[in-house]
Amino acid sequence: MNRRDFIASAGVGLATILLGDYNFISIAAAQDQNGVCIYCNNCQPCPAGIDISAVNKCLDLANSSNESAKDYYFNLSKHASDCIGCGVCEQRCPVHVKVRKQMRQAIGLFGK
Ligand code: SF4
Ligand code: SF4
Repeated sequence: MNRRDFIASAGVGLATILLGDYNFISIAAAQDQNGVCIYCNNCQPCPAGIDISAVNKCLDLANSSNESAKDYYFNLSKHASDCIGCGVCEQRCPVHVKVRKQMRQAIGLFGK
């Protein structure tokens, strides 16, 4: 079961995914996820102040056709367009997420 299916089958609310304790998702998913964000925040701190896991969550939700993803994204204090491309997040990521590529996707999807 991939992460999106896991979230859907668990019936986890959007607010819980974005704001709550989602470690259980990470634990369940980490075994077979490489290059896919598990929202662990190990990549922090971002020098541009971007909540990287939140951006990734919004991307995942948007790709799951969740209409609320855009609203949550625009409520973030920093957006993918604030990324300076330093790459330190990718050095810290335990599952080798291509964060800068994710940021470009977020800009393409959300417009900033
Ligand atoms: S590459 Fe972008 S998202 Fe990653 S730490 Fe640097 S500024 Fe933050
Ligand atoms: S990008 Fe990597 S380090 Fe950052 S939250 Fe996602 S999985 Fe964790």
